Amino acid sequence: MLETRSGKTRESYHSGKAVSLDAAQRHFCHHANCMKSYARYSDLGRHIKTAHETPSSFLCPFDRCTHSIDGQGFGWKDKLVNHLKSKKHKLSAEDAAYAAALHNLPRH
Ligand SMILES: [Zn+2]
Ligand SMILES: [Zn+2]
Repeated sequence: MLETRSGKTRESYHSGKAVSLDAAQRHFCHHANCMKSYARYSDLGRHIKTAHETPSSFLCPFDRCTHSIDGQGFGWKDKLVNHLKSKKHKLSAEDAAYAAALHNLPRH
């Protein structure tokens, strides 16, 4: 839609700063199958921390759920509980909390 103005709007909006250079210097996540890229390195760092380094140790107790696979779980128990309460599993709040706790006992 904005393209109809022959692309000049973007340049003037950024007051002459090299927009194309900025795009070329995006920081790409080095993890396989992850296509994320960020203009700022700090943003990429935060992404790696939250998406790849947070131990996703809270696994879904349902066998056929992709979130039951090691590495595909949730970083926070609350998220797993929410997942169990979602349309996918339809557990009650109590059942979800119980299942999440039972299935994810701390390992020694
Ligand atoms: Zn990534
Ligand atoms: Zn699940």
